[in-house]
Amino acid sequence: MAAHDSVEQKYVYDFAEGNKDLKDLLGGKGANLAEMTNLGLPVPPGFTITTEACKAYLTTGREPDGLAAQIEAHLESLEREMGRRLGDPDDPLLVSVRSGAKFSMPGMMETVLNVGLNDRSVIGLSNQAGGNDRFAWDSYRRLIQMFGKTVCEVPGEEFEHALDEIKSAKGTHNDLDLDADDLRGLVDAYKKIFAKHTGREFPQEPREQLDLAIRAVFDSWNAERAILYRRQERIPADLGTAVNVVTMVFGNLGPDSGTGVAFTRDPGSGAQGIYGDYLANAQGEDVVAGIRNTVPLQELEQLDKTSYDELLGIMARLEEHYKDLCDIEFTIERGKLWMLQTRVGKRTAAAAFVIAGQLVDEGLIDLDEALHRVNGAQLAQLMFPRFQLDHEFEAVAKGIGASPGAASGKVVFTSARAVELAAEGESVILVRRETNPDDLNGMIAAKGILTSRGGKTSHAAVVARGMGKTCVSGADELDVNVPAKKFTVGGHVVNEGDIVSIDGTTGKVYLGEVPVMPSEVVQYFEGELDPETTDDALVRSVHRIMTHADAARRLRVRTNADTGTDAARARRFGAEGIGLCRTEHMFLGDRRELVERLILASGEREREDALAALLPLQRADFVEIFREMDGLPVTVRLIDPPLHEFLPPLEQLAVNVAVAQERGEDVAKEEALLAAVRRMHEENPMLGLRGVRLGLVIPGLFAMQVRAIAEAAVAVVRDGGTACPEIMVPLVGAVQELETVRAEAERIIAEVVGDSGVEVLIGTMIEVPRAALTAGQIAEAAEFFSFGTNDLTQMGWGFSRDDVEGAFFWRYLELGIFGISPFESIDTDGVGRLIRIAAEEGRAARPGLKLGVCGEHGGDPDSVHFFHEVGLDYVSCSPFRVPVARLEAGRAAITTTGSDSR
Ligand code: PEP
Ligand code: MG
Repeated sequence: MAAHDSVEQKYVYDFAEGNKDLKDLLGGKGANLAEMTNLGLPVPPGFTITTEACKAYLTTGREPDGLAAQIEAHLESLEREMGRRLGDPDDPLLVSVRSGAKFSMPGMMETVLNVGLNDRSVIGLSNQAGGNDRFAWDSYRRLIQMFGKTVCEVPGEEFEHALDEIKSAKGTHNDLDLDADDLRGLVDAYKKIFAKHTGREFPQEPREQLDLAIRAVFDSWNAERAILYRRQERIPADLGTAVNVVTMVFGNLGPDSGTGVAFTRDPGSGAQGIYGDYLANAQGEDVVAGIRNTVPLQELEQLDKTSYDELLGIMARLEEHYKDLCDIEFTIERGKLWMLQTRVGKRTAAAAFVIAGQLVDEGLIDLDEALHRVNGAQLAQLMFPRFQLDHEFEAVAKGIGASPGAASGKVVFTSARAVELAAEGESVILVRRETNPDDLNGMIAAKGILTSRGGKTSHAAVVARGMGKTCVSGADELDVNVPAKKFTVGGHVVNEGDIVSIDGTTGKVYLGEVPVMPSEVVQYFEGELDPETTDDALVRSVHRIMTHADAARRLRVRTNADTGTDAARARRFGAEGIGLCRTEHMFLGDRRELVERLILASGEREREDALAALLPLQRADFVEIFREMDGLPVTVRLIDPPLHEFLPPLEQLAVNVAVAQERGEDVAKEEALLAAVRRMHEENPMLGLRGVRLGLVIPGLFAMQVRAIAEAAVAVVRDGGTACPEIMVPLVGAVQELETVRAEAERIIAEVVGDSGVEVLIGTMIEVPRAALTAGQIAEAAEFFSFGTNDLTQMGWGFSRDDVEGAFFWRYLELGIFGISPFESIDTDGVGRLIRIAAEEGRAARPGLKLGVCGEHGGDPDSVHFFHEVGLDYVSCSPFRVPVARLEAGRAAITTTGSDSR
């Protein structure tokens, strides 16, 4: 970019210049500070450096041209407004330097407070604070500590250690017992630590402090934990963070000062009311770190009624303005209320549904917006079971229900151990006094998180809620001893590896494993809870939003089910048909013997006998399924896996035969089996004799299945039911394959259905890339396509679907080659393109061609949006994901300008 262009680019915005819709540019924090400023709320003045500046810095490794001058100009205007200069020895302006990306990343990036303090302005600060030396030196030591740690990478423990030493010399555990002299001494100690690690003195020049702090915030976008968090939360890696430079206000100026956080509704349950924590005589960071225990916000009414009333008024105003749950950070400096932050608050899955329903009732939003405000991942979470508790289980501790759900697992005390055990397949509960951003890996690996300190707004709570992970925080009866790998509670000693259970809704902690019970949302879907009469606000809201989603969606939702039980459940969950009935399970169990006979048949006669024996069994399977799905379409897929999957494994069989031969037993049958297994062995079975290839190679196999399907349909219809079978051929790559199968199938169907009125559609899976690319030809022989996105992904990428996720995807995720496994969420650019081509060319060749998807992606929220957009007729997914797909299909169909539900 030419120099004169970049000079013109605006990189710095005064709070009065922005608004809440500029999150891309100003980050969430900056945009909302601007919005509050423009609403006339008491926001400490400041300015925001844009994400564009950050991106330019991260790309080139230096601040873009013009940034320094713009910062200077905005700083001067801030100094004029405040009547103080940054670092002025007599009357200093101090600022905080805070990160703030488009999407909230709690605790993942850096913040530096008290910028502008040095050896001289510390005296000025004391004078400003009415001669409060203690406060001034405490502020200074906090600056050196934060600046040292975040800007210059001085190990934080060194500062902690120096603080502990001074406290123990004084015989106290409490920071508040340290006086001004102690803190002055601490500043000296901190400066020495700083110099030792950085090889330079702590910078005394305020503008240098400011510039370095801004740069550190930019850099923190690419800190390891931030990268990890983004990957987990699927936040794009290229957004960059904004930097907010805000006039410092102090909550630690005495008992008439303090700091707190508040929610306009309960972020846990969605219940209306005032929720929050307050900590007198403290800085905001003390609350988030859970260092001292807070009091409920309501107690502020006694402490400072004027500020309390003003805060309540502001909260009501913000809710009405944002039309949503707001989460707020504030500080009271000597009786004066300051708003430090607001944003549309994160909430639990249950609260998301409840609040959306309430806001509709209150007339603040309409049902489309309510639908937009919830998502399938939240619904899926609500379908998790919870603990089943009776008198046998007594909680040993009660903390704060910080993130709901129920989790049992082995206790671990470090992030590393959590990752280790989880990798071995264990469920683990990460137990800490409090978590910090370095624990992120362990938090991701753990089933649940338990801390002995901190409230609903502590790091553990905020991060766990964001991840939808069960968390109990602030269980202060627990005495956690991390080095000794144990905690004690009420006389019990719990060691690493012992099992505990935590309830993230009630905050209760149990020793041992507690059994679980189903969710009320599942009970509702099962038809066991009447949404009209229940007093469960969640169920009422889920019902209302689901009803709206069903009315709004264009995509139909079917299920993948191959038993009557699954089909029945899926139907209760709202499935509108079966999109994939895999028939292979019908060849297992006591039918293996028949399959063996089929495979080992030495002549046509023996093979026909085996098939004839299988026919009535298959027919009965289909009758059961058609009955359950009475009147709804049922797509039955002809057998897909290679037949040797139904035989014993080669090695095992070889050993058995050898042992039996050794013993002199008659092994003729086993030998024949072994020979067959050897004959059928494939190096790449996924690319071998399976799907339609089987049907073309093994005479009579598909014919038997087609006959069973047609006969079952006729039987159901003769009984007064309605059967709508759709026969699906797997793994087709060329129209000729399908034509061959189709010719035989049509002949059998015509023979079986006669005048019964049964209609059978014949279609194909599109799961081989060649099929997608020749869809125009294939459509000539198919009445429907169903995209098998599992195989299409496997063959599109050339990734073995059974191996790669465990083997090396971690590296691909780490490198950002993709943000999520393409087996989980559809790769829209590649595999998605194949789907687009096939849909377009298929429909062009056969207008009205029915299109669906039955791979795992059919129940993945993001993929459902893609399938809607491509114009498929339906998605098909496992029964438990049917409600999720219904909801997401509804969300895909509505367009709203509302806030992002992230
Ligand atoms: C698919 O490949 O997406 C599919 C549904 O078939 P299967 O998973 O049985 O191979
Ligand atoms: Mg497949």
